Amino acid sequence: MATAALLEKEARVTHKTATESMKALVFRGPNQIGIEKVPLPKPGYGEVVIKVTLTTICGTDLHILGGEYPVRPGLIIGHEAVGTIHEIGRGLTGYSVGDRVLVGAITPCGQCEFCLDGHLAQCGGSIGGWRFGNTINGAQAEYLLVPYAQANLAKIPSELRDEQVVLLADIASTGFSAAESGGVKMGDSVAVFAQGPIGLCATVGAKLRGAALIIGVEGDEFRRSLARKMGANFVFDPADPLLIEKIKRAAGGKGVDVAIEALGLQETFEAALRSIKPGGTLSSLGVYSGKLSIPLEPFAAGLGDHKIVTTLCPGGKERMRRLMELVRQHRVDLVPLLTHNFPLERITEAYQLFGSRKDNVIKVAIRVGT
Ligand SMILES: [Zn+2]
Ligand SMILES: [Zn+2]
Repeated sequence: MATAALLEKEARVTHKTATESMKALVFRGPNQIGIEKVPLPKPGYGEVVIKVTLTTICGTDLHILGGEYPVRPGLIIGHEAVGTIHEIGRGLTGYSVGDRVLVGAITPCGQCEFCLDGHLAQCGGSIGGWRFGNTINGAQAEYLLVPYAQANLAKIPSELRDEQVVLLADIASTGFSAAESGGVKMGDSVAVFAQGPIGLCATVGAKLRGAALIIGVEGDEFRRSLARKMGANFVFDPADPLLIEKIKRAAGGKGVDVAIEALGLQETFEAALRSIKPGGTLSSLGVYSGKLSIPLEPFAAGLGDHKIVTTLCPGGKERMRRLMELVRQHRVDLVPLLTHNFPLERITEAYQLFGSRKDNVIKVAIRVGT
């Protein structure tokens, strides 16, 4: 009897331990990632823990994996999450356990000087709004602790599926922001350099803003076909020596109103600058490494009335609500960008595929707990 009671107690303890741990993708150092059992997070004041149902892998995660963007070993990476509310900390109103929510990659506090000045991504300081998988544990896990939850949990309309909203957390918000920050107006001509996941979203953003002419620049055949599907009138080859001439000719001879750089290379930055008309705008999304220099001739030695703007992904629940509304009202459909599917348990294979760019991969859906 005593032994049976002891066994039962042990079983309870084991069960308790099992429910308090979770599977997560942990970064241990450059090129060292793997699924590990880690403690389940507990929400503190103003925080919520969500049970993740769908996440994805971002190009930035590849930079982390490669050691080019340093984060601390032991960190759970990933910054895009759809899920249901699992546990609510103190100080939250208007949310219930079980609510389906989308959380942006950028989680602003909504209170600081930068947030209140409209620069949510720069919350607390330079790039400070990017917390998940950067300064705090991220979304490639069974559960995710969301800081400043009142400002960051966007409830998902019941008619929308996880797949329809997961890309809004980062690439859509970022890609669309290039057209917004670039001030694209109805009837404008826009060139988008590179049609990877973010460039494709920039193409969609230019279309949403009412651009009359959208020129994609991309060499990969599958990405070129997607660019046309998502709104590009033409797609030009970046290797074409007459590229700039062709862009200018397509835009009526003087250049485009707005050029969007979505790759992060000196070469594409320069090509974007060369393709804009006097007074035009270069809207830059790329993440550059090393040195970026501005050639003086296309910059008209600084006298061309050019604007160069940069944007990090806009976040916060109001941004997510607006983006979901675009999907709900059938203005945007990003599901074609989710080309592959993996369970969380096989996420390292998904990293390999995403990093290799093989098999026409654009974005991978990572299913959690299904
Ligand atoms: Zn990202
Ligand atoms: Zn803030």
